[in-house]
Amino acid sequence: MPNLDLAINNARYVLSVNSSGEVYENCSIGISGNTIIEISKTPLNAKKVYDASERLISPGLVNTHTHLAMTLFRGLAEGVNLQGFLEKVWAAEGAIMDAPTAELGTKLGALEALLGGTTTALDMYLFPEGTHKGAVAAGLRHVSGPIFFDFPGLDGLEWEARIAFAKQWPAILEKIGGAQVPTYLMPHATYTCSPEHLSEIASLAEEIGANIHIHISENQQENKDVADRYGKTPTKILAETGILKRHNIFGHGVHLIDSDLVDMKGRAAVAHCPGSNLKLASGIADIKKYRENGITVGLGTDGCSSSNDLDMWPVMRFAGYLLSQNHGPENSKAEEVFRMATIEGAKAIGLANLIGSIEVGKRADLIAIDLAAPHLVPIHNLYALLVYAAGRSDVSDVWVDGEQVIENRTSTKLDFAELRKDVNQKVSQLNG
Ligand SMILES: [Zn+2]
Repeated sequence: MPNLDLAINNARYVLSVNSSGEVYENCSIGISGNTIIEISKTPLNAKKVYDASERLISPGLVNTHTHLAMTLFRGLAEGVNLQGFLEKVWAAEGAIMDAPTAELGTKLGALEALLGGTTTALDMYLFPEGTHKGAVAAGLRHVSGPIFFDFPGLDGLEWEARIAFAKQWPAILEKIGGAQVPTYLMPHATYTCSPEHLSEIASLAEEIGANIHIHISENQQENKDVADRYGKTPTKILAETGILKRHNIFGHGVHLIDSDLVDMKGRAAVAHCPGSNLKLASGIADIKKYRENGITVGLGTDGCSSSNDLDMWPVMRFAGYLLSQNHGPENSKAEEVFRMATIEGAKAIGLANLIGSIEVGKRADLIAIDLAAPHLVPIHNLYALLVYAAGRSDVSDVWVDGEQVIENRTSTKLDFAELRKDVNQKVSQLNG
């Protein structure tokens, strides 16, 4: 018996996205369990063999900021800015959201993400135990964690109960299982969590070894509201409350000022969400400047209630277009954008040791792009092809942690017809 569990053989291209950006032609990948153990010029023997001769194999995409369960509210809050959006969506959540509904919405979101080539998502939402179960059922590498607001919120948890739940989170993660992820605590924002509560979260994060995910400086109104209340920027509040002692990733980070970048260096990455930011007219994050200041930048879709889908391909395009518009086409290199959607995103989340590139020893989170499509011919520049011409329907097969979770554009884990019926039934209660 061969000792490999899976061989992806004769791939026309393999984009390693390693530190020197190597691209291999006519190459095979050997996987044992969840790990890449061989990259070979010749086809490999394995228990299962995948013929990739018409395929480009890439690391799975990393969505660094989303709210998967909000897929249930796709298209519900249109024609409004962030504050108007929050008002509408919070009302809809009040009507139908509970733990089982969050699990259902996350299953739908995770399936959409995987079908489009996203293998890892950083997901902030209420009822994280439910959302994590839903995402793991779909086969996604799902990074979630307890969410914090000053007020009880939909889950009805008072502050002390939130802290108590968060202390149990590492054990809950272990119980649910799924692909390996870091532990996170997720205070919603500095306008929904007081500095006193943020200090408490900082101590707890230290105690349980957690990273932090938080919305920061999404639009100017947020910065103004926080400045009116506290006389400082959201980032400065994180610095003063000890939150920045842990590894952070900021959702959006559109309006960060120079002193914020100094406070963030080596401590906080940015999840750049250009689709959501453009749609809600939140502004344009100057990611060139952030990167020049040593800040890691990943890409994110945000939730479907603000940006309507979980498609990382237009997000890559928007990121590239905005760099070009703001700094000139020479600063909009497709390879850099693609790295933000893979290895830089992995780094932003704190998972670059496991995912984000195709290298021996890393986890097999891989996607196959079907190159037999008119819009993918001819190939002059692979990265430009992916970032500016390819789309999610070109993703044919997806592996997470060595397991094939999408086969020929279909989930191997979930029954979509049944899921669709359950989702439609649940959201019909919104109009009832
Ligand atoms: Zn968000």
